[in-house]
Amino acid sequence: MYKSKAYSAASATSPLASDTIPRREPTGRDVQIEILFCGVCHSDLHYARDEWHSVMPTVYPCVPGHEIVGRVTKVGSAVTKLKVGDLAGVGCLVDADLSCPHCKEGHEQFSPTQVMTYGSLDKHGTAPVTYGGYSESIVVDEHFALRIPANLNLAGVAPLLCAGITTYSPLRHWKVGPGQKVGIVGLGGLGHMGVKFARAFGAHVVVFTTSPGKKDDALRLGAHEVVLSRNADEMAKHAGTFDFILDAVSAPHDINAYLHQLKADGHLALVGAPEKPFEISSFALLFGRKSLSGSIIGGLAETQEMLDFCGEHNITSDVEIIPIQKINEAYERLLKGDVKYRFSLDMASLKAE
Ligand code: NAP
Ligand code: ZN
Repeated sequence: MYKSKAYSAASATSPLASDTIPRREPTGRDVQIEILFCGVCHSDLHYARDEWHSVMPTVYPCVPGHEIVGRVTKVGSAVTKLKVGDLAGVGCLVDADLSCPHCKEGHEQFSPTQVMTYGSLDKHGTAPVTYGGYSESIVVDEHFALRIPANLNLAGVAPLLCAGITTYSPLRHWKVGPGQKVGIVGLGGLGHMGVKFARAFGAHVVVFTTSPGKKDDALRLGAHEVVLSRNADEMAKHAGTFDFILDAVSAPHDINAYLHQLKADGHLALVGAPEKPFEISSFALLFGRKSLSGSIIGGLAETQEMLDFCGEHNITSDVEIIPIQKINEAYERLLKGDVKYRFSLDMASLKAE
């Protein structure tokens, strides 16, 4: 065991603060990664503040962070995928039995034995729960470490490990492509990646935003059209015309308004995870045989496919790089929708403390 500097929350109401956490020594199939950048996902905020208490109560101290990119500093003797000095990424998962039917299909994200990067029981016993990427280093089984394309900007790569795969996976699953009209709801960390992928897959992309100030950015990021969702006339103009909508909003909102935007047999996939349940009108689904689903991150193979796709198409997240010392301020800005479009923590700032 060794010690790693980190930032943790001690309770739902305390700000994140400097801390020291234990990490296991890498053995066997383990890879130790020095963390260079870690993206700030809205899930980090939900979790640090125990907003998902009814589904997964937070265990404190909690060290968030599941958009990790860094450099391999040590490997166990059985590691074949990566070597010391390689770039590596870690997303939302750090373990699973790999033998259940879900894991065998490459869907580790559905496995009942999945271990999340933070807040899951630490089966190695290093700490009560797993600790995430707001830290100097992390140790994971090589299966959960991703290869990073060499041509991409690392600060912008970090968010691909959650925001990237969470939007890539449902767009692929629902076969979004040329000839389809696709809506992306909420231009935040996830939403802006959804725009980039939907555009790269050849769809006609429309952003729904509550923020008039994001209109130009939405077009620059790849949208063909932008709808101000609080403007009833703009919403009415597009009603019943979408093949597919991806909802990436972090707060409670009226999902029926987006079901109305779908054509017959259209589909709405939810990736946003607001703390309160939605109210859904059955009629919004019945008329037009519309469907609604959820999607959570993606498996490891698909995450690697997404990273390779980003390497080929030169896709990264648009980031504002901040030092870890600004994390509490960043959370407040996330709540105001004031991020363009992902905070990426420069972890050199933690080393310097
Ligand atoms: P984010 O960067 O904060 O973006 C959320 C966006 O939602 C905002 O930029 C804003 O977009 C919109 N929004 C915020 N409050 C709103 C309100 N009251 N009404 C309508 N729209 C509002 O968050 P994120 O990191 O992208 O995460 C989004 C959600 O996805 C979170 O709930 C997060 O926990 C969840 N998530 C899920 C998964 C998964 O696997 N399913 C993975 C990661 C994150 P506009 O300004 O454009 O309106
Ligand atoms: Zn996330």
